[in-house]
Amino acid sequence: MIIVSACLAGFNTRYDGTNCGRPEIISLVAAGKAIPLCPEQLGGLPTPRPPIRFIEGDGDALLKNKAKAMGSDGVDYSKNLLAGAEEVLRIAEMFNVSRAILKDGSPSCGVFKVWINNEKVEGCGVTTAVLKKNNIIVEALE
Ligand code: SF4
Repeated sequence: MIIVSACLAGFNTRYDGTNCGRPEIISLVAAGKAIPLCPEQLGGLPTPRPPIRFIEGDGDALLKNKAKAMGSDGVDYSKNLLAGAEEVLRIAEMFNVSRAILKDGSPSCGVFKVWINNEKVEGCGVTTAVLKKNNIIVEALE
């Protein structure tokens, strides 16, 4: 079993209430081979919600308390992103998940790129950081 970003599975979980569904991911979910999850919703955030970007560092840095995840409304959503990442990990452990395919660029799901200080740079999201720390392979889709 693998975990996939819910927005890649066609769920309208993105901050603006849209999705970025990919046929190959939708097929995996339809075949019962993948669990679609949205860490930001699992962390208690609504949809739509303000776009969130990192300040000073990426998801790894946030785990070490060296970065923050700030919304465009000026609210610090770091705790929500951490809570969502922990919930994704809890579900991964329930279902013996060893691999995830997540949406790159997101402050939760990003794998190679995230927004830090208003620039898209190398770095990972909070959920990716937590999953990797727990030996789950994380792949990216743009
Ligand atoms: S947190 Fe992840 S699953 Fe949720 S909308 Fe953002 S990229 Fe998609």
